[in-house]
Amino acid sequence: MQKRRRIVLLFGLGIVLPSLLLGYLAFRGIQNDRALVEKERLEDTRRDADRVTRAVEDAITSVEEALANTVADHLETPFAELAPALEKLAAGNPLVEQFFYLKDFKDIRFPIAGLLYVADGRRETGPSWPADLSNSAGIESAQRLEFRQKDYPRALAAYRQALRRASDPRLEGLILNALARVQRKSGLLKEAVSTYENIVRGHGGTIIPGGMPLGPSASLEICVMTRELGDSAKSFQTSLGLYKSLLDREWTLERAEFDFFVQRAKTLIEEIFSSRPPGLDLAPFRSEFQTLETEEAEERNKTERMIAFEEGAAPALEAKFRGGTDETNRSFSRLALVVRNHSYLVSIMRPTAQPANASDSAWGIIIDAERLKENALRPALHDYFPSGETTWVVKAKDGADIMSSENPPAGPVTFRMSFVSDTPDWTLEFHQPPPRLIRTFLLSRRGLYSFVFLLIAGILVFGLALTIRSVSHELELARMKSDFVSTVSHEFKSPLTSIRQLAEMLQSGRVPSEERRQKYYDVLLEQSERLALLTDNILSLAKIEEGRAEFAFETTDVSALLTKVVSSFQERVRHEGFDIELKVQGPIPPVAVDRTALSQAITNLIDNAIKYSGDSRKVVVSASVEEQFLAIAVQDFGVGIKKEDIDRVFERFFRGGDELTRTVKGSGLGLTLIKEIVEAHRGKVQVESEPGKGSVFSIRLPLLLGKES
Ligand code: ADP
Repeated sequence: MQKRRRIVLLFGLGIVLPSLLLGYLAFRGIQNDRALVEKERLEDTRRDADRVTRAVEDAITSVEEALANTVADHLETPFAELAPALEKLAAGNPLVEQFFYLKDFKDIRFPIAGLLYVADGRRETGPSWPADLSNSAGIESAQRLEFRQKDYPRALAAYRQALRRASDPRLEGLILNALARVQRKSGLLKEAVSTYENIVRGHGGTIIPGGMPLGPSASLEICVMTRELGDSAKSFQTSLGLYKSLLDREWTLERAEFDFFVQRAKTLIEEIFSSRPPGLDLAPFRSEFQTLETEEAEERNKTERMIAFEEGAAPALEAKFRGGTDETNRSFSRLALVVRNHSYLVSIMRPTAQPANASDSAWGIIIDAERLKENALRPALHDYFPSGETTWVVKAKDGADIMSSENPPAGPVTFRMSFVSDTPDWTLEFHQPPPRLIRTFLLSRRGLYSFVFLLIAGILVFGLALTIRSVSHELELARMKSDFVSTVSHEFKSPLTSIRQLAEMLQSGRVPSEERRQKYYDVLLEQSERLALLTDNILSLAKIEEGRAEFAFETTDVSALLTKVVSSFQERVRHEGFDIELKVQGPIPPVAVDRTALSQAITNLIDNAIKYSGDSRKVVVSASVEEQFLAIAVQDFGVGIKKEDIDRVFERFFRGGDELTRTVKGSGLGLTLIKEIVEAHRGKVQVESEPGKGSVFSIRLPLLLGKES
């Protein structure tokens, strides 16, 4: 046992330790590789993220540059001249929500916004009226007649005279307006209508003091009066026309004025629709009216957004840009803004070389953050991070998710990126699951080394297991051999002792009765038979092992052979009360066997059956022909064989049970010899057994065994 432990220890030190070391090295190698792969991936992500942000910034820059080129030399040019170029620019660039001009860094103008109206109080009043203009025309006296004396016929005449004298077209419009008003007051509706028509035709755009153009109110008057005159068709046409003109932005109106005129025009239209004037088919106009209403809603929305921007962004813009910013070396400054839940990115073009007292004015672009996200950021992310392991989320400044990759983000955030100077104020977050071990293995060269390491370690461990197995096998064999020597010497000694004693007693004539003497002879015979069997067994096995065994096959009557063996046993064990029964079923054809060897095998089987019979005294030997085989079985009803021993009983020196519990003497050679003999006959030996119930050992020999020497 100690020897075994030493061997195992030696192998442990020699193989297990190096294996463990190798395994550990391999593990560290893989870990290093994993870290390396992770680092590489992170770098890839960083580079691609950088490209994404650059793509977005390039998109913004290209609009900025286009604006710079368009307005470069025109900082103070009237808007009207720049409008076509700006409109073209806006149409060609989906990011642009609007261009604007920032005056004194607080007053925002939209040159091409196409707003339906301006915020209340924000309309430019236009050129002022010369003070002497109205006086010179003699309008004042006409007004006195109209308002104070309410003498409408004379007032009419006075206005007409003023009209003839008026040379300024604006004054003309003003007088016509007054004329129409007085005509209406004096009940001359038809005349009033035609005067208003004159105004609409020739002076619609004329701005009266206070800033209102004449057009819309004149139109509205026509609508109302034609209705009063019962001309529904004309009233309808004019109302629809007024509505269209308002939507076409024919006049610059403030929000309240616009609302007023739109409201009046629409009410009139609806009234005429519902009054169903006879002889007038209005059906075709219904859908047109609806289209106009939809257009109105859309345009209003846009207008309101821009007005909101104007009001909401101005303070932020002023705060950021007035007095110059720290980003003086850049011609554009950017600012992320949220106005009424709408996100914008504003870029302001600062005049490059700003002279000391230059006007604090600049051109700017409003970029819709939503469109920037959809038209620039999303495509770039899709290009550089096609659906794969790296997933991403775009977060707003407040941390809310605003966009994410098709595959839901998985794994930890490996990298975060913001835009330069936080405009747009989004953060890109990239997620990556940790690299897989196997992949790391396969992908890197060092992984391959690690793999080889692991393989070697594995082989070593396997070798160790194998060695331990064979060593322990050898040790077991050695143990069995030494067991064998002690048991065999005992096996020899005890029968020899009893033979000697009995022989002495018989020789000295000290055995009085004949019966007694007979019994002694029986024992003498049994003991010497046993010795002979043991000696035979050892000799035969030694021969077989050394390859010296020669089998002499002779055609034999096996049932006669069995009868001989059994009857010799019967004689031997008669005094112990054993009943050995021989059952031969059917005729057994002659078979070529080595008689001595087969007898020895059967003898050993019966000997075992007797030895392991326990309290049972019955042994059955049977023979029969089964197909092409001769079957010989020896059955006992004794102790049986434990399940764990059953596969090993044919092993050399193997003895069932253990040294302490064993009561039956033996050498562990009998079954080994039997197996060798049976196999030399090209046969098979098998065992079936159940502890406590007995065992059946059966031999099957082929009948057509060729004659061999
Ligand atoms: P032994 O000299 O020990 O009988 P064998 O090779 O003949 O050696 O048998 C090997 C072992 O097989 C025995 O030690 C015993 O445990 C078991 N064995 C053999 N024959 C029988 C049997 N008929 N009944 C029970 N056990 C048996």
